[in-house]
Amino acid sequence: MIPSLSIIVPCYNEDKIFEYSMTILKNLLTNLIKKQKIHKSSYILFIDDGSQDQTWLKIKKVAEDFECIKGIKLARNYGHQIALIAGLSSIDTDMCISIDADLQDDIKCIEQMIEKYKQGCEIVYGVRNNRNSDSFFKKNTAYLFYKLMEKMGVQQIANHADYRLLSNRALKCLLKYKESNIYIRGLVPLIGFKQDKVFYKRQERKAGISKYPFRKMLGLALEGITSFSIVPLRSICLLGFFTCFISLIAICYILSEKFMGYVVQGWTSVIISIFFLGGVQLFSFGIMGEYIGKIYMEVKHRPKFFIEEVSDN
Ligand code: UDP
Ligand code: MG
Repeated sequence: MIPSLSIIVPCYNEDKIFEYSMTILKNLLTNLIKKQKIHKSSYILFIDDGSQDQTWLKIKKVAEDFECIKGIKLARNYGHQIALIAGLSSIDTDMCISIDADLQDDIKCIEQMIEKYKQGCEIVYGVRNNRNSDSFFKKNTAYLFYKLMEKMGVQQIANHADYRLLSNRALKCLLKYKESNIYIRGLVPLIGFKQDKVFYKRQERKAGISKYPFRKMLGLALEGITSFSIVPLRSICLLGFFTCFISLIAICYILSEKFMGYVVQGWTSVIISIFFLGGVQLFSFGIMGEYIGKIYMEVKHRPKFFIEEVSDN
């Protein structure tokens, strides 16, 4: 039997690039249907993540014009990860592929992903084979981030963003994770089943600007680390132990100074230790605060998103 496919595209203020991306994806879908690679009931689902521009109007219009296009408008801007979850929650096809609206990820991989699905893979990751199209800053912060995550024991596919194929079974498993602090990239490898990768070179954005400024990237990195690792909490103990050890040496030194009669000395060391310990304490409280904040958000079991409108054709 020919499997059906849905392509999930989260969009936030993407009206400048929408037509371009929609046309390319629609042609690809029709082509794949024609080649009998996917079932004719396959479709593209655009999620409008509370855009302030014309994005939703454009989605609605094409959803009326073409049967293979659907749209969902979220009640406000929830962020990329939740927008993806909102889209994935309404999928009824055999497999789904999530991709960014700017199509920086090579769509040629879609056919390869489908082939891998047919060979029995339930999860296929799109992985970038280089970061040449990234700015110097993004390249290096991304490298640091993946290294840090690896050191903290978070299982994650390096250089894989949210471009991936999930089978219906894997998708159902993913949706069973009920956490509100969601970091999909960290959850997917935990699902298991047969997994594989396809490699591609990421393009530059054709139009519009990145919706991931440094602030959001940092937020995502923090989300990833604190959702999947307790190493930062443990490192507080180590840090505490280390500072105690250093203080012990300092105490010995100060006492010896005292016995030698240089009592007026020591102001510098006192001030330094006050600043240093103050810094260490604040940093440690900050880390604990991050985790407590997470627990606080989780125990409330708040709904993750609300849908304002669904396109109908
Ligand atoms: N996005 C979203 N909600 C947001 C921010 C981004 O749905 O609050 C979408 C955006 O429209 C795009 C994808 O997430 O489809 C990735 O964003 P972008 O391409 O700007 O990120 P970058 O490639 O610069 O990391
Ligand atoms: Mg992009």
